[in-house]
Amino acid sequence: MSTQGNSNSTVAPNFEVLIVGSGIAGLSAAIACREKGFNVTILEAAAEFTHVGAGIFLGGNASSILCHWGLRKQMDKCAARQKRTIFVNHDEGKTLKVAEYAELEKQIGFPLWQLHRADLHDVLLARAQELGAVFKMGHSVKTYDWERPSALLDDGTSIAADVIMAADGYRSYARSNMLGRVDEPRPSGNSAFRALIPCELLAGDPSLKPIINWEDQTTYVWVGAGCHVVGYPVREGKFYNIVLTQPAIHTADSKYVVSVDPSEVLELYKSWDPRLVSILQHLPADTLEWRLCDLEPMESCIFQGSKIVLIGDAGHAMLPSAAQGAGASIEDGAALGELLARARGKEDIPRVLRTYQKLRQPRLAAIVRGARADAKRWHDKKSTGSGTTSEWSWDYDVMTEAREIELEA
Ligand SMILES: Cc1cc2nc3c(=O)[nH]c(=O)nc-3n(C[C@H](O)[C@H](O)[C@H](O)COP(=O)(O)OP(=O)(O)OC[C@H]3O[C@@H](n4cnc5c(N)ncnc54)[C@H](O)[C@@H]3O)c2cc1C
Repeated sequence: MSTQGNSNSTVAPNFEVLIVGSGIAGLSAAIACREKGFNVTILEAAAEFTHVGAGIFLGGNASSILCHWGLRKQMDKCAARQKRTIFVNHDEGKTLKVAEYAELEKQIGFPLWQLHRADLHDVLLARAQELGAVFKMGHSVKTYDWERPSALLDDGTSIAADVIMAADGYRSYARSNMLGRVDEPRPSGNSAFRALIPCELLAGDPSLKPIINWEDQTTYVWVGAGCHVVGYPVREGKFYNIVLTQPAIHTADSKYVVSVDPSEVLELYKSWDPRLVSILQHLPADTLEWRLCDLEPMESCIFQGSKIVLIGDAGHAMLPSAAQGAGASIEDGAALGELLARARGKEDIPRVLRTYQKLRQPRLAAIVRGARADAKRWHDKKSTGSGTTSEWSWDYDVMTEAREIELEA
């Protein structure tokens, strides 16, 4: 692995950190480790970065970390502060519950942000590059040697490091390697239609004015009838981000992401709130159906030898109803950076990873289970939308926790 200059922070051991995957989890880990002065190499299977995904929410648990990394200005440029969530019933659009966030945000002390995943990825990528992380694109890792530890590329090359963070997503090869069997994520039985609709197409309908208002960022959640729909504007109000969750249709078998005909979506939701139907009339041709899966909370996220760790969706894929998959991935990276900085030498790395696991597993399991409970509740015909379980997870400071937890033996 190449040697890089240290960032501003000074830390004694100069570990070689190898990260597999450059999604939100991999990039967050790269920033956290470079901030502490470790050498970071990222292996990414894709030949180049592409703008995938749509809107995502970040609670104070994630925004606080981004602010600590000095990214507040960049985030404020591309993210909106979420003011409230309005739950409405599916057919009449009658308001069931309004959750205002001004007080909560003040109490947390950090913003509740909503933005396009690609914009978050851009911000993290630019920072990781600025800090000197080395990116190796088109490098796919399918096998790991836990003893060295090292990652084996498709062409047989082996890349060793002091510690490896596997951030290769929800269909992780690393997880299957660790478990010694192919481990596909657990299908929830539901799927999500996900699309970005140009707001200029919606502006002609006066009933949609409060829904697409960028400055007064409000998330609408339509609940009931075995489905739920979440929508909010992104990219300075240029697009309306919409996610419709229902029993899986084209992804019910083994497919993970497929294109759908917008008229099929409209047909499915034609008897819902007329405002929602008005929005759905403008669904783009590139509307996708995503199979919704998660992972049973894992007892262990570290390989034998305790030098390789699963982070992000690879270790804790969850249903989007928690709106915490990316947030928890940012936490993972921040926690590892803080914990590794407490190691006195390479011999401490296994202790660090065991401590990481002790710190992370209870919280991650609670978020994963909360997401399942939310999805179930919102699909109930009598749903009132009340009791969004993930709110409890927004006020959390993983960096302090990682600095203060006693290191495992
Ligand atoms: C409908 C929907 C809505 C969502 N809404 C939210 C939300 O509001 N808030 C939120 O926080 N989260 C949300 N999420 C979840 C969030 O997007 C994910 O949890 C998060 O992006 C996971 O990041 P990751 O880096 O772990 O994985 P990924 O983004 O999947 O990145 C994995 C990376 O690893 C690379 N890779 C894969 N295999 C290999 C290999 N063998 N070798 C090398 N590289 C490899 C991939 O190319 C990719 O770059 C949502 C998800 C969905 C589906």
